[in-house]
Amino acid sequence: MISHIMPTYGRLPVTFERGEGAWLFDANNNRYLDALSGIAVCSLGHAHPAVHKAICEQSKKLIHTSNLYKITAQEQLADSLVKKSGMDNVFFCNSGAEANEAAIKLARKYGHERGIEKPSIIVMDKSFHGRTLATLSATGNPKVQQGFAPLVEGFIRIPYNDINATELAIKQDKNIVAILVEPIQGEGGVNIPSDDYLNKLRSLCDQYDLLLMLDEIQTGVGRTGKFLAFQYNAILPDVCTMAKALGNGVPIGACLARGNASKLLTAGMHGSTFGGNPLACSAALAVLIVMDEDNLIEQAIQKGNVICSVFTERLKKNMHVVDIRHKGLMIGIELDKPCSDLVKLALDQHLLINVTNETTIRLLPPLIIDNQQINLLIDILSTLIDEFTK
Ligand SMILES: *Cc1c(COP(=O)(O)O)cnc(C)c1O
Repeated sequence: MISHIMPTYGRLPVTFERGEGAWLFDANNNRYLDALSGIAVCSLGHAHPAVHKAICEQSKKLIHTSNLYKITAQEQLADSLVKKSGMDNVFFCNSGAEANEAAIKLARKYGHERGIEKPSIIVMDKSFHGRTLATLSATGNPKVQQGFAPLVEGFIRIPYNDINATELAIKQDKNIVAILVEPIQGEGGVNIPSDDYLNKLRSLCDQYDLLLMLDEIQTGVGRTGKFLAFQYNAILPDVCTMAKALGNGVPIGACLARGNASKLLTAGMHGSTFGGNPLACSAALAVLIVMDEDNLIEQAIQKGNVICSVFTERLKKNMHVVDIRHKGLMIGIELDKPCSDLVKLALDQHLLINVTNETTIRLLPPLIIDNQQINLLIDILSTLIDEFTK
């Protein structure tokens, strides 16, 4: 049958009908182990009863009112996010790219208020910030930009995890107003910077009056073993964006701001028709409650450590495995050759994984993954890696 979907994705030959925790089932009731969670989205697993209940109950009452009125669930969600993050306020939208758009607008407004007419933002090589025009311009991957010039101006690109390059760039350009950076690069290959990278960026931002803007769209909501990855560094950013796991699959994005940055946007300056609607916010509130009640964020640390130490043991004789790295349940296994073919080979074994930056297998299992599922994941994948590199 001819598909009438724009072919923007190279899709795998499988369709899922339903899910249950870390399992997905196709129409023939074959089950697949999901070690990707819909790209870091379904951290509570599929069909979580608390999320299901929250959506059902809210949809019986009210799905949408627009932001012309106060929305109770949105107020509650903002309270909860502010408490958990140490930030001051929140703008709600519907995706990661939109959350970053809000951050980029904040930075530009910050510049204009200080008399900088052409404000620019420092961004990193291999970064990923989304597919809208501004966010793809901020993204450090030529493939994402190819064919879409003219790009949005005002981004200065430097290497990731390089403080000297950052300071040099700041000194060379009086128009720089902000740094936009992922605490761990996800799409760029699960790149984990030095432990004190964010602390040093924070100091530079303080010294030169720049906004530190952290893209926590993939790292946030417990994925790395803290609610937000910057909490490993005991710093606070000025702006922080979230999306992916926040609604466990119900679309929602958030741009959190603090201090002066939280006062930059006033009535009429930014908006979203759907952003923060009652349905999405109720789902997100349920997600945050479950994460707390079931201690899932602490479990991400312990499960991530187990998965990586067992993988390291199982693959220690395989000379084609360059590196196994992780923070919580954000895991990268880097090989010495392109390995995107592994995605299909794993699918044949009923395991869902992903490959980024051509040579890094990326695992983003749901935080609720259990020990048996962890063992199955390690068994299938280490055997596959050994066969693939033979
Ligand atoms: C996924 C992702 C985005 C884009 O989010 P969308 O919801 O797809 O727009 C932005 N930044 C990072 C770090 C991401 O992982």
